[in-house]
Amino acid sequence: APTFGDRLARRFGGYRPQKTVHAIDGVDLGIAKGQILGLVGESGCGKSTLGRIVAGIIPPTEGVVRWHGDNANRPSQVEVRRAKPGIQMIFQDPMSSLNPRMRVAEIVGEAPLVHGLVPRRDINAYVDEQLVRAGLDPAYKKRYPHQFSGGQRQRISIARALAVQPEFLVCDESVAALDVSIQAQVINLFMKLRDELNLTYLFISHDLGVVEHLSDRVAIMYLGRIVEEAPTEEIFAMANHPYTQSLLAAVPRIENRKSSFAVVKGEIPSPFSPPTGCHFHPRCPHAFARCRSERPAIRQIAASHFSACHLNDGSA
Ligand code: SF4
Ligand code: MG
Repeated sequence: APTFGDRLARRFGGYRPQKTVHAIDGVDLGIAKGQILGLVGESGCGKSTLGRIVAGIIPPTEGVVRWHGDNANRPSQVEVRRAKPGIQMIFQDPMSSLNPRMRVAEIVGEAPLVHGLVPRRDINAYVDEQLVRAGLDPAYKKRYPHQFSGGQRQRISIARALAVQPEFLVCDESVAALDVSIQAQVINLFMKLRDELNLTYLFISHDLGVVEHLSDRVAIMYLGRIVEEAPTEEIFAMANHPYTQSLLAAVPRIENRKSSFAVVKGEIPSPFSPPTGCHFHPRCPHAFARCRSERPAIRQIAASHFSACHLNDGSA
């Protein structure tokens, strides 16, 4: 069981990429060491922004990222702990994150040399080891990224991330661009790496089918807020929040799906002028008067299950 010291607590509020927008609003999430948290929502809901804050790529305007139970931050203090290379990010499109003029051997070997993790005389064997771990044949390490398939390129970016010996991976739509059969292979690789290296993941996806297979817990995000968070089985078996329920209803059955693109009825409102009260009320089939005026707090509704909906107050 994870100890408090292992707990990776993350608390954010009010990141504003421009003065008028809260891309993320009052998100409070924890991820225990060795766990995979799936973060799901439609595009534009703020999940990529959250991933970048967690990875230390952008700072929050308010709130803190706590790493290894570091709880030295006062609540009002604006701070992000840059934990690199402890935290690595894996993006959707490896073509844009891999330097096309570098050979695989350099792509994977560069950071460990810069960080002094490996002496130069050992770098060849070290790079081979990372490639094998990521499921690539080291014989191809003299090649350039464009000489590989999409799935192989994503394995190259995974090998590059592993080469700096991270503890935590933020995966932002890391399998979204891949064919479904290749998706499954890369997801299995992520799970194998978690087991072998005790890695912790924030796994961001618009695709509930992807996180179902991979995640220990799932957090559902809507317009910058977490609306539900629970163990994966509970999200799928007893979703509480109407938004989660509509996401699940929009997912085709896993056995005959080509892609489980979740499509919920109605337009996603602009994050520049989010709806009052519960952000979901214009699309919610259960909305009532209070939903338009009052923001629902996220509440514990079962042992490890949280949801932000007024229906849980029994005051509907
Ligand atoms: Fe729907 Fe109201 Fe619950 Fe929001 S608070 S999800 S509008 S019932
Ligand atoms: Mg995104």
